[in-house]
Amino acid sequence: MNLHEYQAKALLQQSGVAFPPGDVCDTPSAAKAVADKLFAEGATKVAVKSQIHAGGRGKGTFKNGFQGGVKIGADAGEVFESAKAMLGNVLVTRQTGPEGRRVGKLLVALAPNIVKELYLAVLLDRAASRPVVMASTAGGVDIEEVAAKTPEKIVREHVDPALGLMPFQARKLAVGLGLNGDLIGQAARLISGVYTTWWQCDATLVEINPLCVVAGNDGKLSLLALDSKVSVDDNALFRHPDIQALRDLAEEAPLETEAARSGLNYIKLDGNIACLVNGAGLAMATMDIIQHYGGRPANFLDVGGGANAEQVTAAFEIILKDPKVKGILVNIFGGIMDCNVIAAGIVAAAKETELTLPLVVRLEGNNVLAGKKTLAESGLKLVTGDSMADAAQKVVKAAKS
Ligand code: ADP
Ligand code: MG
Repeated sequence: MNLHEYQAKALLQQSGVAFPPGDVCDTPSAAKAVADKLFAEGATKVAVKSQIHAGGRGKGTFKNGFQGGVKIGADAGEVFESAKAMLGNVLVTRQTGPEGRRVGKLLVALAPNIVKELYLAVLLDRAASRPVVMASTAGGVDIEEVAAKTPEKIVREHVDPALGLMPFQARKLAVGLGLNGDLIGQAARLISGVYTTWWQCDATLVEINPLCVVAGNDGKLSLLALDSKVSVDDNALFRHPDIQALRDLAEEAPLETEAARSGLNYIKLDGNIACLVNGAGLAMATMDIIQHYGGRPANFLDVGGGANAEQVTAAFEIILKDPKVKGILVNIFGGIMDCNVIAAGIVAAAKETELTLPLVVRLEGNNVLAGKKTLAESGLKLVTGDSMADAAQKVVKAAKS
């Protein structure tokens, strides 16, 4: 689950990570009120930031033509105008896809004098089975790009999860960021705070990009996190009701939300052949074989090892709500599952949803003969596949015609 920038900021602040002051708002006049307050407190510039679950906002474009999902204003009037252009409009960035995301909230924050933009993140290094803190002097740009073009600009510290991030490691990272003097201690504390947030929230990623060296009006340098991203491990959400409450369903694919409610693992893809499979491994293999025979899967869907008829119906309903779908492949291996239960579920679902799309079914395993009989006697216009390859070829062909 991903959080909005303003939510990530609030979590990180609890661990002592410093951010510019500001507030979240959802109307242009509220944005102006926050800006008025910041200017009254001595700000010389104020940033207006679109809150969507995607990066690249700074360089994004709104569908109404407005340039930039992050804008700096020199007075409250400018902030008001930017807020008006952003709120309720769709922002397209290189991470949103061409459909973009509607902006419903803004973070209005002080815009400091930036001296340098750095990068900092904590994530899980699965190969090393350890958390890793990554830092780079190349901030404000995509870290993937830095990793590809100038990998020497990235420094890493692996963390022993039993010990946590050691103070010397935090200082080493600070030095790796090219900092000196007072800023080393500041950075070490900030990095420890970011690691603490990562650990306590069961996050998969906490990213500060950019982490900035900023100059105060007196010229004094300090560190501020100007953008933050937190992704939390879905499997650990049950122990964080406070984080669950931050979920923004408007940012998630609606069909995926509906599937989760029925206990189905569904991920929407952009092909046109829907698949309904039991077991994640078989679902992956099914997607591969569809692709192998020249088709493109419309989704990943694992109904689980012990799906019942209601879940199969729910799965069909979800599949059919995707307007791109031109054919359906059901691929069930009855290990624990009784093929006849699935067959009855398919028949019920096809009748209930008045299915007109081509449907190819491959059943194998426990009680398969009874399952095939149920399908054959159902009166449904479906095609059976004798093997995965056979079923995949049939559905690819059917979806094309
Ligand atoms: P994204 O990563 O989605 O593009 P950021 O929050 O990183 O969004 O903003 C993009 C750029 O805008 C930053 O690299 C920084 O230069 C600038 N920026 C962001 N927040 C502020 C702020 N509060 N004050 C001044 N500049 C900012
Ligand atoms: Mg950023």
